[in-house]
Amino acid sequence: MSGTGVNLGALAEFNVAVVLEAIRRHPQGVTRIEVATLTALSGMTVSNVCRRLVDAGLVIEEPAPARGRGKPPKILTLNRDGGFAVGVHIDPAVITYALIDLSGQVRERIRTATPTVQDGAKVVREMAAMVDALLLTGGIDRAKVLGVGVAAPGPLDPETGVVLNPPMLPGWHRVELRTALQLATGLPVLIEKDATAAVVSELWVSEPGERRSFAFLYYGTGFATGIAIDGSVLRGVSSNAGDTAHIPVDPDGPTCGCGRRGCVGLVTAPRTLVARAVRDGVLTAGQAGDTADVLQVGAAFGLLADEADAGDTRAVEIFTVAARQIAQALVVVIDLLDVGEIVFGGPFWSRIAPVGLAALTEAVRTDRGLVVPHEIRFSESLIPGDTAAVGAATLVLDDSFSPRPEALRIGTAGDAVARFSAT
Ligand SMILES: [Zn+2]
Repeated sequence: MSGTGVNLGALAEFNVAVVLEAIRRHPQGVTRIEVATLTALSGMTVSNVCRRLVDAGLVIEEPAPARGRGKPPKILTLNRDGGFAVGVHIDPAVITYALIDLSGQVRERIRTATPTVQDGAKVVREMAAMVDALLLTGGIDRAKVLGVGVAAPGPLDPETGVVLNPPMLPGWHRVELRTALQLATGLPVLIEKDATAAVVSELWVSEPGERRSFAFLYYGTGFATGIAIDGSVLRGVSSNAGDTAHIPVDPDGPTCGCGRRGCVGLVTAPRTLVARAVRDGVLTAGQAGDTADVLQVGAAFGLLADEADAGDTRAVEIFTVAARQIAQALVVVIDLLDVGEIVFGGPFWSRIAPVGLAALTEAVRTDRGLVVPHEIRFSESLIPGDTAAVGAATLVLDDSFSPRPEALRIGTAGDAVARFSAT
């Protein structure tokens, strides 16, 4: 590294990421001249960077189909098969593994039951075996895999890669997941909170400027929000930003583990709604099963949603009340962060949404505590299904290829170019 003030190496890496981003955002293809216009880089720089990207197999450059006379220009497109990333989402009920290509398209997925952690080493061996299985079924050369992203319920420590003591993962205490999984797979590993991983993937797939400041509501076994401000994900000091579960929304509600009454994460939790459905006679105790068992809760929640969809007024009431309680918490989030959009996702969201969404949006818009003057947009996640698993895989692409001047964690676009060029 040179001792001068300007780090020319880092600047070159940034250019690689900027050019790749411009090509990635134009699936129909762009010429070098168009890339220069899009990026405001010189023609010489663009040519140099493009040559490196083509050599690394990340970009394809081919003559456009001939039209009329004259030599057709060469068109640059992303080589979707040029690199891959694996995403692992640790949900309290299931672990989802997703393999995505360079364009972000899901190629393979596998689901397994989430083990309780008695033997951390065994869990990591199982996860590594699943990653192997994913690459094998996808027919993917390991040398083309940029890394593994892991999304887990918080709190966690992304720096050390330790899953701390998530309330939703009993038995998972201080699991040193990142280092262990890195050793077991031989691949770089990143770890992120599930809702934050979802935000990273929403930003990755959104058109530039389309989604700038939004909160992602992750409705699963746990209640979490991820945050993007001005087009960047908001992580905070320990990368645990967005824990909104303890916002009180029901003064007469049950006492939460934190000591407050009626916390949104507790009163709107799927297991709480299932228990209420039993009390209200919508479900039998037999249908509800064991509300401490996440898989049984998932099944019972599905039955409750079926009743709500069929118009059972008691089931509709349960979802409507929960939706209004979620709305109260969202008003706090919107006022605090001044976001313009709420994006919904997570494994249970699609079941509560048909009945709950209208009540939720109405409750937010008419809440007298809503101070911001702008219109709030409500939308579904752009990643259909497996939001957090795909988000986890996207972390790797984002970390490798997003043009950001700050220090990156896995490496840089230039590293990936160098690595792929060498293989
Ligand atoms: Zn609480």
